Amino acid sequence: MANADTPHSPHHHAAHAKEYKGSCFCGAVQFTISGEPAGMGYCHCESCRKWSAGPVNAFTLWKPDALKVVRGAENIGTYSKTPKSLRKWCTKCGGHLFTEHPGMGVTDVYAAVIPDFPFRAGVHVNYQETKLRMKDGLPKMKDMPKEMGGSGVVLAE
Ligand SMILES: [Zn+2]
Ligand SMILES: [Zn+2]
Repeated sequence: MANADTPHSPHHHAAHAKEYKGSCFCGAVQFTISGEPAGMGYCHCESCRKWSAGPVNAFTLWKPDALKVVRGAENIGTYSKTPKSLRKWCTKCGGHLFTEHPGMGVTDVYAAVIPDFPFRAGVHVNYQETKLRMKDGLPKMKDMPKEMGGSGVVLAE
């Protein structure tokens, strides 16, 4: 006879996917991401520079359902200059959170807002627009990789 009372480990979820915590500058918005990113690196494009007010954007790309807002969802603002990007920030502190790319089926969570995540860049994209050359030996894509709709052309550092 089978026992209906199935035991289970309290660490059940942890065994399936690593989880990392993220938040805005003031902490009003908190979220988690879980699993493994689809890609990570640095974007040098003008949009990233103007939006971040920094010379490059360190990005990590995730399937949208990897991200869960656990606190302060009502404080998330959205700006969409083009339908390709839904940029999210905290309306209390102005701190940036992540950008949804519905066409590509990924969400870019800025490496700067997930300090516990072991960020390891694999590529530089939109390097033709760079204002800060980074000689780290990683591939420098002129625009975007072919599989993401770009030319796939690699530039010298
Ligand atoms: Zn905030
Ligand atoms: Zn960019």
